[in-house]
Parts: sequence; C-alpha cells; structure tokens
Amino acid sequence: MDKTIANLLTALAKASEVVIFTGAGLSADSGIPTFRDGATGLWANIDPEEVASIEGFRKAPEKVWAWHEAMRALFAKVRPNAGHEGIAALESLLPDARVTVITQNIDGLHQASGSTRVIEIHGSALRIRCHRHCGFVDPWQAGQSAPRQCPSCGALARPDVVWFGEALDEDVFSLAAEAAFDADIFFTVGTSAIIQPAASLPMAAKEYGALLVEINPHQTPFSEHANYSIRAGASEFFPALRKALAEE
Ligand code: NAD
Repeated sequence: MDKTIANLLTALAKASEVVIFTGAGLSADSGIPTFRDGATGLWANIDPEEVASIEGFRKAPEKVWAWHEAMRALFAKVRPNAGHEGIAALESLLPDARVTVITQNIDGLHQASGSTRVIEIHGSALRIRCHRHCGFVDPWQAGQSAPRQCPSCGALARPDVVWFGEALDEDVFSLAAEAAFDADIFFTVGTSAIIQPAASLPMAAKEYGALLVEINPHQTPFSEHANYSIRAGASEFFPALRKALAEE
C-alpha cells in the first residue's frame, strides 16, 4: 500500500476536486452491518420489501416505522470510525482542493466525524419527511415509534430515506453527478457497486477524466476499472493516507 499512497500523494497535490463515494462497508467497523454481510442484526429475518419499500409502507406503516426506529436507535449508539475520521481530515489536509463526500449510507456518520460537504443520495435515517414531498423535513426524535402525520399537509410522515424501488431525489443526484464529472480523484469506498443509479457515478467520473481509486477488502465490479484497487478496510487505508499527507 505504501507505493500506492506515494502515487496518490502526487495526484492529490495537483487535484482541485476530490470526491469520496461511500457505501455500507465504511460503517461496518462502527458496528453497523452491511446489507449483504448482515444475516444478523438489523437485517436478520426481515424482508426488505416489507420494511423498506413503498409497498410495505402502504400496507403496514407501523411496521416500517418501528423497524426504522430500531435502525435509528442503533445509529444513535455508534460512533464514526477511523475511516470516517480520515475522510473528514482530508478537508484540512488538502486546503487547495474541494472535498465532496457522496454517500449511500443513511447513518449520519460522515457529518458526525466532521465532513462538511456531504451529499446523501439515499437520504438519512436521522430525519423524517412528508411522504407527499410537501416540504416538511424534521430531525427524527428518539422513541418516535408510531406513524405520525405531516404537520403541514396531513399526509403520512415517513423516514427520509430512499427505499427499494424508489427513485432518487433528482436535485440531490444532480449534485452528486456534477461532483463526479468535476472530480480529479474519485475514491469509491466500501460499496459493492451493485445498486443503481449510484453505481454509475464512479464510471462517469472515470469517463470524465478522474483517477479512480477503490478501497474495499473484496473484489467488486469496479475493481477491474479502477486505476488503483486497494484491498484494505477503510479504517486501515484512510488513517494511512492521513498520516502520509500530514508528514508531507
Ligand atoms: P453492500 O452491503 O452492498 O456492500 C458493502 C461493501 O463493503 C462490500 O463490497 C464489502 O466488501 C465492503 N466492505 C466490508 N467491510 C469493509 C471495510 N471495513 N472497508 C471497506 N469496505 C468494506 O453496501 P452498499 O453497496 O453500500 O449497498 C447497500 C445499500 O444499503 C446502500 O444503498 C445503503 O444505503 C444501505 N445501507 C446503509 C447502511 C448505513 O447507512 N450504514 C448500512 C447497510 C445498508
């Protein structure tokens, strides 16, 4: 990894746009199971169609609400890990670059670790919103386990997350796409690169000229396209990069 980090330092010194695209693997070392690894914990014995889809919400909003409350309670207990912290530190270590985090995670750990420019393309389990998009968005209060109504228009309130089968928010995704197009270096971290349209971003970045760097302990569909595919956990790689940048 040392030689790769040395090459990345050279590229980072010239970069004005640095993008870090993250998925569930980044938060695994904080104690949040990834969807695919998680036959236990949050994802055990659940049918995603029942608890994380619009059809499930229409059929049984109480069940969907209760499952998300359990997820929110888990997120409230965990802390950012060295991967999140190393990513946040890039902002001060690269003063001449704009650092953008695009995340598929809904756990709020990037903001908790100090990243200031975070695009949450799958929303956040720390917020609720009006199901009809009337404009109502609110922080999720602890213990809020019963379905409640939107105070503005009376429709159902719901977790502010993108469920299976739902379209991404167009404005949010446009911001992410612009960052990908502008990127000089695009890190893809802890994602299996399967869920679309999120998974299109790294390839778009590469087509528009970015250096593509993958951080994942396992091979993914991106690995063969990446300029560097680094077989390491995020909480191992980003502290090493942070240390190397600080020592420069
Ligand atoms: P995924 O579960 O499909 O894949 C996780 C990837 O992370 C795998 O490729 C795995 O090899 C890798 N990984 C595991 N440990 C790692 C580590 N320490 N460092 C780096 N990589 C590691 O996750 P996904 O691609 O993000 O897609 C799942 C979807 O489920 C996402 O859309 C996300 O919104 C949602 N989800 C979110 C959370 C969260 O917010 N923390 C958790 C689970 C699922």
